[in-house]
Amino acid sequence: SIVVTGATGQLGHLIVEHLINRGVTPAEITAVGRNTARLADLAGMGVATAVIDYAEPASLAAAFTGADVLMLVSGSEVGQRVAQHSNAITAAVAAGVGRIVYTSASKADTSALILAPEHKATEEALLASGVPFTILRNGWYTENYAAAVQQARETGVYLTSTGAGRVASASRSDYAEAAAVVLTTPGHENAVYELAGDIAWTGTDMAAALTEVVGRPVVFTPVSPEEHTAILTGAGLDGGTVGFVVALDGNTRDGLLAGGSSDLATLIGHPTTPLLDGLRAVA
Ligand code: NDP
Repeated sequence: SIVVTGATGQLGHLIVEHLINRGVTPAEITAVGRNTARLADLAGMGVATAVIDYAEPASLAAAFTGADVLMLVSGSEVGQRVAQHSNAITAAVAAGVGRIVYTSASKADTSALILAPEHKATEEALLASGVPFTILRNGWYTENYAAAVQQARETGVYLTSTGAGRVASASRSDYAEAAAVVLTTPGHENAVYELAGDIAWTGTDMAAALTEVVGRPVVFTPVSPEEHTAILTGAGLDGGTVGFVVALDGNTRDGLLAGGSSDLATLIGHPTTPLLDGLRAVA
């Protein structure tokens, strides 16, 4: 059977859907997470469910027993994830799970991306565990720009400090489909995939796509990190959020989200979802 963590979240739910679309019997899937309302919704799809918390090893041991493959979707509690993911890996080893598939981040082992260190540490724990693994180094989701769509609709501006940096985003569903493929087909043991969208777009490309999606002219307005910090602070964002957004834009400016691998399209067997379609889905 296949256990999917984070199934109560957006990516994990899509992984469960893609597994079923690919012909996996729902009863062969165990969807796990903390949110009991969303687990009840998943149970309605015919899959088994279990409540887990990465911070509670007993819950992990119970849920992972009997699993052939563990789909470990990275958690969302930044700062606690190394301990949480390590708990999951330890529990999977103890339960005799045959393979662990993990959603990491682009070039996690070498990248200066602010989100990379927790993924790098998790990859190291996975390698050290001795369990066969598949690492899916997920690039950026197009859905991350839902707020940009909203802002473009209200202001006609796409303002960033990403400069000429490009982003090879793809839709969550593309990444989820790739996960379903490596969970259900042979040949992915101890493989590391760099997953990203086929096209690395610029801020100008994004403004053009936003123009089509919101139906008013949207202008790309690149600003310096200092200007960006002042603008976000003036808009009332807290210091932590401002620092995160500006650092991430700096990472983008430095090309850390620019992709460059065709692993995603190759795994799913079709082109990744174009930016315009991905934005329309969250508009
Ligand atoms: P969501 O926030 O929708 O889902 C996160 C999932 O993690 C939920 O199912 C949540 O469970 C689960 N989770 C969080 N903490 C715990 C915990 N302590 N114990 C058990 N489960 C936990 O994120 P997405 O589905 O959009 O993305 C999946 C992951 O991808 C994120 O968690 C993050 O690591 C990463 N990510 C990647 C991005 C990218 O662009 N590549 C952007 C954003 C995130 P519950 O809701 O039941 O508490």
